[in-house]
Amino acid sequence: MIGIGQELKICHLYPDLMNLYGDRGNVIALRRRAEWHGLRPSVEEVSLEDKSDFRRFDVIFIGGGQDREQKLICLDFQKVKGSALTEAVEDDAVLLAICGGYQLLGSYYQTGEGERVPGIGIVDLWTVAGKKRLIGNVIVETDLIEGPGPKTVVGFENHSGQTYLGAGLRPFGKVVTGYGNNGEDGGEGVIYRNTVGTYLHGSLLPKNPGVTDFLLRRALLRRYGVAELKPLDDMAEMRAHEAAIRRAKTKAY
Ligand code: GLN
Repeated sequence: MIGIGQELKICHLYPDLMNLYGDRGNVIALRRRAEWHGLRPSVEEVSLEDKSDFRRFDVIFIGGGQDREQKLICLDFQKVKGSALTEAVEDDAVLLAICGGYQLLGSYYQTGEGERVPGIGIVDLWTVAGKKRLIGNVIVETDLIEGPGPKTVVGFENHSGQTYLGAGLRPFGKVVTGYGNNGEDGGEGVIYRNTVGTYLHGSLLPKNPGVTDFLLRRALLRRYGVAELKPLDDMAEMRAHEAAIRRAKTKAY
C-alpha cells in the first residue's frame, strides 16, 4: 500500500542549541518531502526542560553542536528526557542525529581536555576527541537506500571526536571519500533499529532524497504498516547530489 494522507509527527529536538551548518534544513526537507508524497507532516520543537512522551513522534531529529551545547544537553538527558527518548528508540521511532547529536547517543563524548560528557547510552558507541579535526566533504555508500537512485550519500563533516561502535553494530555506510566515524575503520555513522547517527552536515537530507525516503518509509511502516511511497521527480535533488560528489572528489570546498 502506498502512503498517502497519513499524519507524520516530526520532533525537532533542541532547535535553538543544535544547528550547525544548516542542520535545521533536514527538518525542512523532511516536512516538504513528506508533503510531496501526500502525507500530512507537523513539526513540534522540544528543547531544554521540556518533558515529552517521544513514542508519539514518527521522526525525531537532533542536529550538531559544540561542547558547550553538548554539556547542557547531557544534563537535560539525565534530568528530563533520557528514559523517554530511550523508550521511543526501543519502540522503533525514527531518530536522526547529526554529529554532536550523534555523539550524545553513545555512552560518552570525551572532550579535547579529557572531560567525559556522558551520553544517553541508547547505542553502544563512544567518542574521544582526537588532536586533528576531521573536516571536509564526504561520500558514503550505504545499502539502506532503496529504489533506482544512487546508493551514495553526500555531506560535510567537521568534528574532532572520533567515534567507535561496539561489536555487532552496523555503521550507516562505508566511507568512499572523507574520514567518517574515526578516520580509521572506514565506517560512517550508525544504524540501530530505526535510529541513524551520522557526521554528515550539509544539510544532509535535501541532497540525499534516498535517505529522506528511507526515514519516511521506516516511520510509516512503524505507525501504519505502509512501506511504499509515491515516486517523486528528483531531478533538482540529484543535481545537488552530483555537484556535491564532484566537489568531494576534487577536494574543492
Ligand atoms: N563537538 C563535537 C566535535 O567536534 C561535535 C561537533 C559538531 O557537531 N560539528 O567532535
